Amino acid sequence: RKCLNRIKKTQHLNAYITVTEELSLKQAEQSETRLRQGVPIGPLDGIPFAVKDNFSTRNIKTTCGSRMLKDYTPPYNATVVQKLLDQGAVLMGKTNMDEFAMGSGSTDGIFGPVRNPWSYATSYLTQSGASPDSDWVISGGSSGGSAAAVASLTSYLALGSDTGGSTRNPGALCGVVALKPTYGLLSRHGLIPLVNSMDVPGIITRSAADAAIVLGILQGFDVKDSTTVPSPSSPQELPEDFDVRNICVGIPKEYHAPGLSQDILAQWSRVADLFESAGARVKQVSLPHTPYSIVCYHVLCCAEVASNMARFDGLEYGHRSEMNSSTEVMYTSTRHEGFNDVVRGRILSGNYFLLKQNYQHYFVKAQKVRRLIADDFRRVFSSGVDVLLTPTTLADAARYHHFTQEDNRTRSTQEDVFTQPANVAGMRNKTFKRFQTCGRTRGDVHRKCGRVQGRTYTRQYG
Ligand code: GLN
Repeated sequence: RKCLNRIKKTQHLNAYITVTEELSLKQAEQSETRLRQGVPIGPLDGIPFAVKDNFSTRNIKTTCGSRMLKDYTPPYNATVVQKLLDQGAVLMGKTNMDEFAMGSGSTDGIFGPVRNPWSYATSYLTQSGASPDSDWVISGGSSGGSAAAVASLTSYLALGSDTGGSTRNPGALCGVVALKPTYGLLSRHGLIPLVNSMDVPGIITRSAADAAIVLGILQGFDVKDSTTVPSPSSPQELPEDFDVRNICVGIPKEYHAPGLSQDILAQWSRVADLFESAGARVKQVSLPHTPYSIVCYHVLCCAEVASNMARFDGLEYGHRSEMNSSTEVMYTSTRHEGFNDVVRGRILSGNYFLLKQNYQHYFVKAQKVRRLIADDFRRVFSSGVDVLLTPTTLADAARYHHFTQEDNRTRSTQEDVFTQPANVAGMRNKTFKRFQTCGRTRGDVHRKCGRVQGRTYTRQYG
C-alpha cells in the first residue's frame, strides 16, 4: 500500500504506463498470509517489483511505448516475470520507456518522457538554481521508467532490458544499481525483441546485494529460449568475506573518449583510487577496437531491427490502419502510423545495410569487427584482469530540453559509447551444450522422456 501511495504521489515522474493496483493488493494479501503462517516462498515473497513495458505480462497491457502495441495484451508471461511471480514478488505495474527500447533518454515513447526523480531533490535544485517544472533532467533510457521506479522508492526492484546500455544508462543517471547479466544467463522468452543477438533482461535494484539475489533467482536454462545456458536458479548472496586485495582491476585506456565530462572523469579516478587504497591491483589495459564498436553496434542493430519489426504488419498484433484499399496500402499505413521516426529510421537503415550490393560492405564487415571487439575482451580477461572499471555515461543526466534539441540527436546515439561494447562482444566464449529434441526442434528438451541431446561447440557472440 505504501508503494501504491507513493506511485500516486510521484505521478509527475511518469515512470509507470500501467499500475496494476488491484492485482498488486491481491498478491500482497496472499503473500501476507504466507508470511503470517511462517511459510514464505523465499527472499522475494511480498517484495514489490516493476517491469519494463516490453516484457510480456499475461492479461496486462504490454505496449513497448509504441502506438503499434498501445492496446496489445499478451496471453502469457515472460519467463523472468513468471519467475518473480512464482517467488511471491508483487507486481506494481509496467514501466515507461523509449519506443521499442530504441533510445537513451526515455524521451521517445508515446506516453511522454520519464522525469528523473533527482530533479526534485532539494540539493539539486539549490545547487543548480533550476526550477523543477521547466528544468527537470532526463532519467536516461530506454528503461528510464524502471530506474525511476526504483529510485523513487515505488518498487524495490525492476526489470529493464539491455541491448546497448538501456538498463545501465538509466541506472547510472538515476543513482541506482543496474546490472546487465551475461547474454544467455537469463531467458529472453517474452521480452519483445530489439536485437536478438544482444538483448538481455536487466536488473535494477537499490543495492548490489539485492541485485545478486534477483540474478540468482532469474538465471537458468529455459526450454523456451535456446540461447540460455544451464546455471542453477536460486537466490545468491554476496560473499561476506570477499577480499578486494585478491582482484585485479583493469582501466581501459580507450574509454577516455571524446566528450567525457570532467565530473565523470573525476569520479572514475576516485573509484580507481579507492580500489587501489583497499589493496586491489589497478592497471591500465587496452581494448583497441573500442572506437569502432558504436558504429558496428548501429549497423547490426538496424539490420536486426529491420528483420524483427517485420512482424508488425497490422495483421497479427496491435494497431491496424483504417486505410485498407489494398493489402499493401494497409501494411504501409499501419507501419507509418504505428512507429515513430526513430523506429522507421532504423528499419530503413537496416534494409539499406542488407541490400544485396551493401551486405558485404556493411553487415559482413560489422560482424568481423564484432569478432575483433570480442577478442579484445577475451585477451584482457585472460591476462589476469578480473574486472574492468569504466564509466557508464559520458556526462551526468542532461536537462530534458537540452537532450531533445534536434542537433543533440547525435548525442543520444553517442550515449551508448561505454555500454554497448559488452553487448556487441557477447562476453561469452565458453564451450557449452546446445540441446536438441530427438534431432527435430533445436534448443529444446524432449518433453516426454526429458532426454536432452547435446552437441558441444564454441559460440562466441551469443
Ligand atoms: N540506446 C541504445 C539504442 O537506442 C540502446 C538500446 C537498448 O539497450 N535497448 O539502441
